[in-house]
Formats: sequence, C-alpha cells, structure tokens
Amino acid sequence: MLKKNIKKYIGQYKIPIIIIFCLIFNIIILSTYIIKLNSPKPKFKEIKPRISFNQKLNYYKPKQIKIQNINPSIISNKTIYLTFDDGPSYLTEKILNILKQENVPATFFLTSRQIDKYKDVVKRMQAENHTVALHTSTHIYSYVYSSEDNYFNDLNQIRMQIYQITGQKPRIVRLPGGSSNTISKKYNQGIVTRITSILTEKDFYYFDWNIDSEDANGNQTKESIYSNVTNKIHNGTNIILMHDSATKQTTVEALPYIIQYAKANGYTFAKITKNTPAIHHHINN
Ligand SMILES: [Zn+2]
Repeated sequence: MLKKNIKKYIGQYKIPIIIIFCLIFNIIILSTYIIKLNSPKPKFKEIKPRISFNQKLNYYKPKQIKIQNINPSIISNKTIYLTFDDGPSYLTEKILNILKQENVPATFFLTSRQIDKYKDVVKRMQAENHTVALHTSTHIYSYVYSSEDNYFNDLNQIRMQIYQITGQKPRIVRLPGGSSNTISKKYNQGIVTRITSILTEKDFYYFDWNIDSEDANGNQTKESIYSNVTNKIHNGTNIILMHDSATKQTTVEALPYIIQYAKANGYTFAKITKNTPAIHHHINN
C-alpha cells in the first residue's frame, strides 16, 4: 500500500523532481567554479633568460649549472686574457673578488715571495677556475738569467710549491721581464734564446703579452691604467699584462672598469691554456 503511494507520488511529480535535481547539480558546479575563480592563484615569476651563451646551456642542461657558471672561458674573435704577474699579495684576493663578481677568468703568473702567506688565495684561484701559472720563484734577474740551470731550478721551485698547494704542476710560463727583455744580456749572452727553446722542448708553454697596462711603470693612476688598456684592445687575441704585487692598488681599482668596458664592447674573456694562441715577443737575447 505504502509502496504504491510512493510510486504514485513520484510518478505524479517526476518532471519537477528531475528539474530540481538538475538545478542542484548546476548550483554545485557553478559554486565550485566561483570558489576556484576567487581563490588566490599561486604566483610564478616569469623568468626571462639573460641573452647569454651560458644561460642557454643552463636552461637545457640544468645539471651543468655549477660547472658552466664558474668563469667560463669564451673564445671569440675579440678575446681578452687578463694576466697578473708577481703575486700573490694582499691585493690578489681583491682581484679574485672582482673576477668572481664579473664572472670572468684570468691567469696568474706566481712567484714564491709571499706564496706561503697566501696559500688559501692560490687554492681559491684554482677552485674558481683561473689559470695558476709560473713566473719564477725569486724573480731575481741576476740569478735566473745567469744560467739555464739557475733558471730551471728557480722555475721548478715555484712549480713544486704550487703543486703542494693545488695538486697541479703548471706548464704555463711567463719569463720575468718577458721574452724580449734585454737585461738578461748583462748576466748571460743568448740565455733567453736557450731558455725558451728548452721550455718548448720540455712541453712548457710560455706567454708574453700584446697589451701593456703599464702598471709596472711608476705611479700609474687608475685612469691611466684604464686608458692604457682600453685604447689598445682590438679584434683577435688580447693578452693584457697587469700586476698583483702589493704596490698595485690602482690596478685593482681600474680592473672593474676595464672589464665592464670590454663587456660593453663585445669582448669575451678567457684564461690562458696550452691551446691559447701564443703571443711571443721578439727575442733580443
Ligand atoms: Zn714579473
């Protein structure tokens, strides 16, 4: 009896019941949509890649970010090799800070003078992917240019000190005064000719420079060092001679401006390796 009444009741109101159900369903759908619309959206910053060689590499190979990002050597038709002779000194760390900030590599030709005091700085050079290279241990012309034996003993001394600090034995070399120096004539005729040919035979790679910042000459201001470099850089290979010995404060001051000028004018930066185009002076002795 009761079942019959219910059936009858439902049959009578079939259409309105369906309409009510449809309405309720629509209301649920609509309110979920409204809630969704009003709830705060998670914010994603739009990342615009800097237009640079590395950024593209990082984007496609995220695992390589760390390796690719430390002072990449980028060799182009306008390449600058920043080189610093006669360090390390207390100024070397300041130079490393600038290089890190600008993300550019450099090459350091070391002597032994203060190397024990600045072992950590030498370690940092290597860790930050610069070239740690050989100048000589003593840098005393009368000693290193008096005989081949003295030169190579002296060179070996700084090489072993660097090996103890970094675990690497460098093969990149710069002669004190460069290979064109004439001071060596005073101590031994023809010594530079012989030293350079032995270096090449022994699989060492010596580098002079073709841009002189002139920071070794007297009291240069940061402005004069800046213009000495920026007036002379050109298409092709630019190996720039600078010094990071303790008196070269103005070199440190000029450095960021030199780097920024070069970047703005389309130069790239690289560190010296054995594959770098050899810049050799004319040998005068
Ligand atoms: Zn020197």
